[in-house]
Amino acid sequence: MSTLRATYDQQVIDAWAVQVASRKRGIGKTQLMLTLPLIPFGIWMFLMPSLVPVLLFFGVAFALVLAQLIDRATLLCPHCHQPPTERGTSERADFCVHCYYWLRSPYGAEHGKVA
Ligand SMILES: [Zn+2]
Repeated sequence: MSTLRATYDQQVIDAWAVQVASRKRGIGKTQLMLTLPLIPFGIWMFLMPSLVPVLLFFGVAFALVLAQLIDRATLLCPHCHQPPTERGTSERADFCVHCYYWLRSPYGAEHGKVA
């Protein structure tokens, strides 16, 4: 298991938590607002096949892909400044695949906090 070699640094974990939290307020909200209209547009496309719902559906889907690409490019490992995952959402990463620094505490969220 490669995760056993991961380095524990509370500063990296804290910096990552700050990044993920600010992302949730920004691009995370944008992604949710883009995902929601996909459902009615998809139903519309299915019930009334015409060019308008198809264009709307793919327009929003394209914006969503774009938002995800921006997301990956901006959510970087606080230690080596690269996207911490090879694919998928960086937000769910537990450790960075490049420098093997933990991004979330392997001992639980409360570890290292002053009570
Ligand atoms: Zn890293």
